[in-house]
Amino acid sequence: MTEFITRFAPSPTGPLHLGHAYSAMLCHDMARAAQGQFRLRMEDTDLQRSKPEWDALIRKDLIWLDLNWDGPVLRQSEQLTSYDTYLAQLEARDLLYPCSCSRADIRAALTAPQEGHPHEVYPGTCKTRAMSDRKPGDALRLHLNRALALQANALPTFHETGVKHQGIHLIDPDQAVQKIGDVVLSRKGEDIIAYFLASAIDDAAQGITHVIRGEDLFDFTAIQVILLTLLNLPVPTYHHHRLIRDEDGKRLAKRDDARAISTYRDDGKSPFDIRKMVGL
Ligand code: GLU
Repeated sequence: MTEFITRFAPSPTGPLHLGHAYSAMLCHDMARAAQGQFRLRMEDTDLQRSKPEWDALIRKDLIWLDLNWDGPVLRQSEQLTSYDTYLAQLEARDLLYPCSCSRADIRAALTAPQEGHPHEVYPGTCKTRAMSDRKPGDALRLHLNRALALQANALPTFHETGVKHQGIHLIDPDQAVQKIGDVVLSRKGEDIIAYFLASAIDDAAQGITHVIRGEDLFDFTAIQVILLTLLNLPVPTYHHHRLIRDEDGKRLAKRDDARAISTYRDDGKSPFDIRKMVGL
């Protein structure tokens, strides 16, 4: 049997809702079916919004749902400096540039993009700036065209096992430039590391062979595969699953407290009821 190590990677910025529970249950069940491992990672790089209380509640909910993870919990906030080596590698290859544009999109880069919050493609205002011109507080962006030019002879690929996009995907450079653009990777000196880079590096650090997550992230897999390839890190297999939606077809947001798993628990529902509710 091939090795199967997956992870559930919530951001502890709110309670777990049904959508998260579905994702965690699917990760767990797929790992157990493959006699593999189910790991837990707290994506708490947004130091303002991440709270120990949410971290504790998420772990409590997972245990209640009988989703016991293997090995220690990895918290990204506890290892912020470890990302510097990777940033330095990208800098040495002239793939970064400093950016002093909007604070809002730099903040947004701390967490994963989500459906309903369109990803804004950076117009490239600071693109011609050199790293030697970096000012305190500047963000660092990936120069995507240069990164793609380096990979032009062997465009990165990834394997997707989720039903909707099943197959081998060859990264399309034009699509990557048009849909994703020059993403923020960090703000140096301020312990800010952005989601795309931190999450991809930690998949490698945790030995993840299979990334199982919501299909709202499918379009952004390309950027993580580009980063992993540039950094000579292994590219996992991806599985993007359906999203759990409310009656109006809207993706359940984290702030939707009415549907927090802890609320169902307090109302006397069982983990079995939760599984039924999400169609497992
Ligand atoms: N922390 C991300 C989220 O909560 C997870 C992204 C991923 O699984 O790659 O949406």
